[in-house]
Amino acid sequence: MLTRRTLARDAKIEGIGLHTGKMVHMHLRPAPSGSGIVFVRTDLDHAEIPATLAHVGPSFYATVIGREEVTVSTIEHLMAALYALQIDDVRVELDGPEVPVMDGSSRPFVDALRKAGSSEHDEPRQYITIIRPVSVSHDEKRVAIYPCSEFRVTYAIDFDHPRLGYQELTAGLWGQRAFDEKLAPARTFTFERDVQALQREGLALGGSLDNAVVIGDEGILNQELRFPDEFVRHKMLDLTGDLSLLGHPVRGHVVAYRAGHDMHLRLAKRILECGDCWYLAPWSGAGMNHEAAAGA
Ligand SMILES: [Zn+2]
Repeated sequence: MLTRRTLARDAKIEGIGLHTGKMVHMHLRPAPSGSGIVFVRTDLDHAEIPATLAHVGPSFYATVIGREEVTVSTIEHLMAALYALQIDDVRVELDGPEVPVMDGSSRPFVDALRKAGSSEHDEPRQYITIIRPVSVSHDEKRVAIYPCSEFRVTYAIDFDHPRLGYQELTAGLWGQRAFDEKLAPARTFTFERDVQALQREGLALGGSLDNAVVIGDEGILNQELRFPDEFVRHKMLDLTGDLSLLGHPVRGHVVAYRAGHDMHLRLAKRILECGDCWYLAPWSGAGMNHEAAAGA
């Protein structure tokens, strides 16, 4: 049986927050088996917020968790990295209201987590195995999950913009190597006009070409993209981070069309509500594809 894991050593990460533009110091520590991922605001009396669906607040531009007025935002890129590296139990201490944005991708988190290494607990890891489809839709936006032996994602985006348009990708995301190669480097993206509107409201003050791909009316303002389809890859990264709030890794195939954080989180909630659509059990890893097994 695959067992739960925590970090072998502490990991420290620092950088500016996207919205405040202020420096945030983050300190990830090993945690006991079964504790899950817990964020701790060291600047607010060490208030603790477990990274679970029960603590998710309104999440549109970024995924936000909160408890009793204390929040932590933009957790999704770190959560995706923890999910991909199969690290279940970590205490994430930080001295500000948001996880550092870094370069807008998951890669800096993957690098820091890998440097810290992981250590196995004795307790088996429980997996959510989907046995019946679950879906949510809103206007044209749709997201569903179907039975599948591994964690697989098909994602399509369709923006009315000449440089963006329609992009789709399917990828099996089991194992670190698949995530590293396919999703981790993909940066968040935004439209120049949205950045200007947010900054007028005092938000996105830390936003720059160093931490996002910015799309202007004429084209992309950054020097170059990391993948021709970096946009849809980033959406898959966000989805991975959002589904990790279920608290257990998922064996199922997600199919998403024009979705975003709000839709991802609605799907996760619907999965929890549909008790006969899945079961929870340890897993031997049998059936995991070769590439994934080598990376895990
Ligand atoms: Zn994102």
